[in-house]
Amino acid sequence: MATGNPGEVGFLGLGIMGHPMAANLARAGFSVRAWNRTRSKAQELAEEHDNVSVAGSPADAARAGIVISMLPDSPDVEEVLLGEGGAAEGLPEGGLAIDMSTIAPTASRAIGERLGARGIALLDAPVTGSRPKAESGTLTIMAGGSAEAFERARPLFEAMGELVLHVGGQGHGSMIKLINNTLAAVNAAALAEGLVVARAAGLDTAKLLEVLAAGSGESAMRELKAESMLEGNFEPLFKLEHMRKDVNHFLTEARGLGTLPEVAAKADEAYREAEDAGLGGQDFAAVIEPIATKFGLK
Ligand code: NAP
Repeated sequence: MATGNPGEVGFLGLGIMGHPMAANLARAGFSVRAWNRTRSKAQELAEEHDNVSVAGSPADAARAGIVISMLPDSPDVEEVLLGEGGAAEGLPEGGLAIDMSTIAPTASRAIGERLGARGIALLDAPVTGSRPKAESGTLTIMAGGSAEAFERARPLFEAMGELVLHVGGQGHGSMIKLINNTLAAVNAAALAEGLVVARAAGLDTAKLLEVLAAGSGESAMRELKAESMLEGNFEPLFKLEHMRKDVNHFLTEARGLGTLPEVAAKADEAYREAEDAGLGGQDFAAVIEPIATKFGLK
């Protein structure tokens, strides 16, 4: 049963990703009821778009009948959807919650069950692509949940993403996202090591990058992060603490399934060291810093 105005959507969490995603919904003509813990960020978005209004609480935003969340981690999503004044209080029976944060698949399933008991559907629909793709509306969106819920969400997804996929049942969107990010995390840590060794060997790193781009050492991480690693530019597009969260969730899920992912566990150590060095709020390219320190290059 569809409820609420199909042209209206609530949006919870206007950080690096949430702000441009909600802006694209507004540009596509949806009326957005925006809520953010720090209210001024919702006010900023409302000043930028006539069809964005500031909601007083997650429940207030959710009165749209469909609500999207873009928050850091499982406890935040649980609190904002199911806590006091949470979205579940505003969503009608037949309503839809779309969680686009990257959280643990076990948490997605547990939240889905609790919402389901109130007649509310959940899609776990995380995204890949950092702030630039959020801004250009070209994210990849992978959704877990029912096919019916996915079809209801499709017009919203198409306003924010380019590759939009229904990947399976509840939790499957979250699991695919964790595997993707763990591969990226491992690759970025290996790239950082390669760059540090290149410097220690006195190589011309511009020449190195040229060869990598044309050879089997090429990767999305080389393209996206090699220069910021070399320049020490860690302005956050994707925070290192969020990358570590994703690797941790991957390790927990994998161990729960009886597997022992040793390469990911090693990469986790590199991100932990960077976090311990106070770099959690920086871009994950900062994983190069503790590696460089170990080589005596800092
Ligand atoms: P961010 O910039 O740190 O923004 C987080 C947002 O969540 C802010 O609006 C913050 O509100 C809000 N928030 C944090 N804790 C909260 C709580 N306990 N209750 C209510 N609101 C809370 O993060 P982001 O980069 O947008 O990432 C959001 C999610 O997307 C994460 O799961 C991340 O892993 C995932 N993701 C990020 C990227 C990327 O490249 N950045 C790409 C793909 C996926 P305040 O303004 O009050 O702090």
